[in-house]
Amino acid sequence: MNRRMMIKEINALKQARNAVILAHYYQYPEVQDIADFVGDSYALSRKAAETEADTIVFCGVHFMAETAKLLSPEKTVLLPEADAGCPMADRITADDLARYKAENPERTVVCYVNSTAGVKALSDVCVTSANAEKILAHYQDHRLLYVPDKNLGNYVKRKFNLDLEAWPGFCCIHNDLTVELVTTMRKRYPDAALIVHPEAPLDVLDEADYVGGTKGLIEYVKTSPHSQYLVGTEEGLLHEMHKTAPEKDVIVLTPDLRCYDMKKTTLESVHRALKTNTHAIEVDPEVAQGARRAIDKMMALSEQ
Ligand code: SF4
Repeated sequence: MNRRMMIKEINALKQARNAVILAHYYQYPEVQDIADFVGDSYALSRKAAETEADTIVFCGVHFMAETAKLLSPEKTVLLPEADAGCPMADRITADDLARYKAENPERTVVCYVNSTAGVKALSDVCVTSANAEKILAHYQDHRLLYVPDKNLGNYVKRKFNLDLEAWPGFCCIHNDLTVELVTTMRKRYPDAALIVHPEAPLDVLDEADYVGGTKGLIEYVKTSPHSQYLVGTEEGLLHEMHKTAPEKDVIVLTPDLRCYDMKKTTLESVHRALKTNTHAIEVDPEVAQGARRAIDKMMALSEQ
């Protein structure tokens, strides 16, 4: 089937099933373009909770579709590629966290949204890269464990001078950024502003003109006066930057900023998901209840 026919069929199936397609900014441009809504983890979670559609096709990785299911348990949530996971989320299991909590009962557990439902269920509050600073500002007098991303954890720890232990997980894409690479690219593009996602190592963040989650990076490119940017996050985000600020020149720091799992989803897999109802996400009801509590807490605090 050619691309035009494929898109036509996706739209027809979507209408017949009263479905909505949600896509993360790291997806392929053609997948972002067929989505009803493109966003970061937080915005997509909110969309999933608000939508009146019967079916959500989640173009992203497993923890994102799982979070959508937690917020819309009565809906069918489909992940087009069953094995699209997140290596960072896999860095901690619910059993690991249960063991840690038994040994460190005094620590309040903050989990990044990039975690399994089982880990969320054992956490006190969830955060995303967009709201981590705002939420953690409420926990300045707590003793904290932050899971699973050591980089974002250490970034907020230093910013608010927190008593925070960071789980030694990381994103294999962002964690590979180095100061050497930044120095080389800055020499090549001396007028460019450097903007970096907080999943990058702390010494790289120290070099940046702006640090922020995906939505923050887009806003910065749109509103700041620079005309050229070196972007330290997954290359898929450049598609949205080109759309929202076409007059700006955005350059990814390295072509290695490409998430293999995010790039598993294609137009073909979205089409198959709608046609064959694959792969439906299910979460154990007891786990779901605990995980929802951590997400509800995040949503309540991010409204304040
Ligand atoms: S970019 Fe990193 S954190 Fe995001 S899904 Fe891929 S591996 Fe996970």
